[in-house]
Amino acid sequence: MENFDLIIVGGGPIGLFTGYFAGLHGLKTIVLEALADYGGQPQMLYPAKNIQDIPAYRSINGTSLTKNLLNALKTTDTVLRKNYRAKELSKFKDHWLINQELAAKSIIIATGEGAFRPKQLPLKLDQESQAHVHYSLPDPSLFLNKEVAVLGGGDSALDFSLELAKLARVALIHRRTAFRGMETNVQKLKKLKNVEILTPYLPQALSFHDNKLRLTCKQVGSSKEWHKDFDEILVAYGFRANNRFLRKWDIQLSEGLVEVDASMRTNLPGVYAIGDAITYDGRAPLIGLGFGEGQIAVMQIMRQIFPEKTLTVHSTALQ
Ligand SMILES: Cc1cc2nc3c(=O)[nH]c(=O)nc-3n(C[C@H](O)[C@H](O)[C@H](O)COP(=O)(O)OP(=O)(O)OC[C@H]3O[C@@H](n4cnc5c(N)ncnc54)[C@H](O)[C@@H]3O)c2cc1C
Repeated sequence: MENFDLIIVGGGPIGLFTGYFAGLHGLKTIVLEALADYGGQPQMLYPAKNIQDIPAYRSINGTSLTKNLLNALKTTDTVLRKNYRAKELSKFKDHWLINQELAAKSIIIATGEGAFRPKQLPLKLDQESQAHVHYSLPDPSLFLNKEVAVLGGGDSALDFSLELAKLARVALIHRRTAFRGMETNVQKLKKLKNVEILTPYLPQALSFHDNKLRLTCKQVGSSKEWHKDFDEILVAYGFRANNRFLRKWDIQLSEGLVEVDASMRTNLPGVYAIGDAITYDGRAPLIGLGFGEGQIAVMQIMRQIFPEKTLTVHSTALQ
């Protein structure tokens, strides 16, 4: 059993900032993220869009925001754990347990609208094909000098294609003629010789022969078929969120969101919630607001865990 003062469930912007803030104030903290990448919605849903209402930034995109939050976390002792889905919450004496593996006196739920799962490629895949179908890009070198298909039309598909074009030959395949992602990135891709753009085409079948994936696509609105052999396929169809697990945690919910008081306390003593996971009168899904909620929760936890200590509120006094 690993022991912490605080377990933060969710590595979106709010969980990451709160992990930093808790670390800064000396709480032994771990941040858990279900996905292979941190950053939540800005990183997964709109990585290239400019966010214009983060304090002290005129404008910052989702990828840079996540990078900066992670860089700040590196300056603290807060532990980060990705690919880790919090499924169970239970009580043991005066500690809360996550998945019967991690223990802490306090929990902060920062799960947004729920644990993300990539939308799957809706094709029947044999085991060999599955090994070459990816949903994220943790290690681009895997694609070095390969023939890669990127499926999708949003910002992630465009970002993946631009990134992969630096080291592979790319076919970007989308079911609509227009892309949902940033037009400037579409234009950049159109100029690259090693990138082929295929629209409006929909994948129909995938099979594995002679160490190659044979992808068959059908032109939308006609019977025209196209097929090509690839080494790897990267699917960027977006994500589904699911916070059904919260129902099993006996937490008071209102329309699927966690009810909190003004101190971010839930109905369970020692369990707090912040960010898009919560609801109260007047709340709006804004990153700046969630950062503040994280600070309120951490201050409460400090008072609860170290009642004997004088609370240092300002970071300028933490030298
Ligand atoms: C298109 C779009 C544009 C936006 N633009 C802006 C903007 O300009 N300005 C602004 O302030 N806000 C904007 N927002 C809203 C903003 O993105 C959200 O308010 C913010 O992401 C909420 O952060 P969060 O950390 O609470 O949740 P999320 O970003 O949803 O992150 C939650 C994280 O928790 C993880 N998680 C969930 N369940 C578990 C579990 N059981 N175990 C482990 N991990 C789990 C998820 O995988 C996810 O990574 C925008 C949102 C969208 C969709």
